[in-house]
Amino acid sequence: MRAVRLWSTRNAGWLKKCYVLLEGTLTLFNPLLKAIGHKRLDKPFAVVEGAVKGFLFDSQSCGQCTLGETGMACPMNCPKTLRNGPCGGVRQDGGCEIKPDMTCVWVNAWEGSQRIGPPEETITIIQPPVDNRLKGRSAWLRALRVRAGDSP
Ligand code: SF4
Repeated sequence: MRAVRLWSTRNAGWLKKCYVLLEGTLTLFNPLLKAIGHKRLDKPFAVVEGAVKGFLFDSQSCGQCTLGETGMACPMNCPKTLRNGPCGGVRQDGGCEIKPDMTCVWVNAWEGSQRIGPPEETITIIQPPVDNRLKGRSAWLRALRVRAGDSP
């Protein structure tokens, strides 16, 4: 829902802090999660993650979350699914080129990122191209694997 999505970018600062707390907690439990098996846990995690992030951010469950870097705005809501900033078509009023009634995702991302931290720690970090094989998988578990230096 677009209203909730906008609320989330307006509250990006503390939402990011909640995420850091969640990530820290999951990191503590990662040895147990690894013992059970990330592969086995992927589906239930993805269902919970999809419900929470779907409600708060209209997340499209790409499986490689950038919310913390993009001001809590999901870049997959951009009709062109751009992940490193806006296209050249943003309207004068900040509207999307493709969907004029929608504010450009990157306008929201910029505003949200200001509430999280300096640009070099958020929105100017270059994101890799989206890997569609990860769609529908748990980004939380993937982040744990990346953090632990395991194969993502
Ligand atoms: S205006 Fe913004 S949301 Fe619309 S297509 Fe371009 S980058 Fe994406």
